[in-house]
Amino acid sequence: MKTRILIREGQYQLNKAGCMDPKTDAEELYSFLTGRDRVQIFLEAEEEVEPETERRYMKLIERRAQRIPLQHITGEQEFMGFRFAVTPDVLIPRQDTETLVQEGAKAIQSTQKEKRSFLERLKGRKDWEILDLCCGSGIVGISVARICGNVELTASDISEAAVALTKRNARDNRVEAEVLQGDLFAPHQGKRFDMILCNPPYVKTNMIGMLQDEIKDHEPREALDGGRDGLDFYRRIVAKAPSHLKEDGFLLMEMGYDQGEALRKLLKESGRFREIEIVRDLPGKERVIRCRLKRDR
Ligand code: GLN
Repeated sequence: MKTRILIREGQYQLNKAGCMDPKTDAEELYSFLTGRDRVQIFLEAEEEVEPETERRYMKLIERRAQRIPLQHITGEQEFMGFRFAVTPDVLIPRQDTETLVQEGAKAIQSTQKEKRSFLERLKGRKDWEILDLCCGSGIVGISVARICGNVELTASDISEAAVALTKRNARDNRVEAEVLQGDLFAPHQGKRFDMILCNPPYVKTNMIGMLQDEIKDHEPREALDGGRDGLDFYRRIVAKAPSHLKEDGFLLMEMGYDQGEALRKLLKESGRFREIEIVRDLPGKERVIRCRLKRDR
């Protein structure tokens, strides 16, 4: 069978199965199987495919048609132009989350900071100590560290498997990171950071059943479920973050498009934060809330 016909058959099967983007997925799976990039596939469109490759391709299509996420089949996802390994133990990196990374990097690059002393630099200390809380695959902290070189990264997650994956992704991206296991701030007792970044679970419990099959049947519920109103984790983070931020420290959190006002209120009422700002993602939805710790009076 010709390459073009085979991929079209894949696309047809995925479309029939209700996949959202059958054309892209059919091409991605062919690319994953053969190691060819999109351009090569296009150039070889009229060439015959080996029967063995054809059989293996249709096996991949079959799995995807069962609504197994593409990234669980390929084992990876690109994010911010960097490559990350993905397993079913963590949330698959989403483009939405690039807003959180961009805001974090922007804050770091635009904030004048007293440089660390010569001695601290000798000891290899970087200017910014940042924490990626609920790190999952580690994409947020690792991306910020790759974009801004002057960052010392700590990451943590309640899931042991997430911790292992973040360590692997940090290594693969050549970022040094301390990765710890524990519930929110539990592994960071007595430690303060210049910036805390977090993409916590924020989907309302009763909304999870309405998500796509790929998400609700294959992604970890504990990475999605934010409780009755989706705000459970924010309440805990807002309460504890002030004792883990240095003076003027930043807190940046991803959120659902309809949670901005509730979160603004939460941060305001705590009385500990200033410069509370909501940032929209590329499609224009409110996606990130950003603030700084107030100075001690
Ligand atoms: N944006 C994600 C989704 O709806 C949710 C991510 C999260 O809860 N942190 O799939």
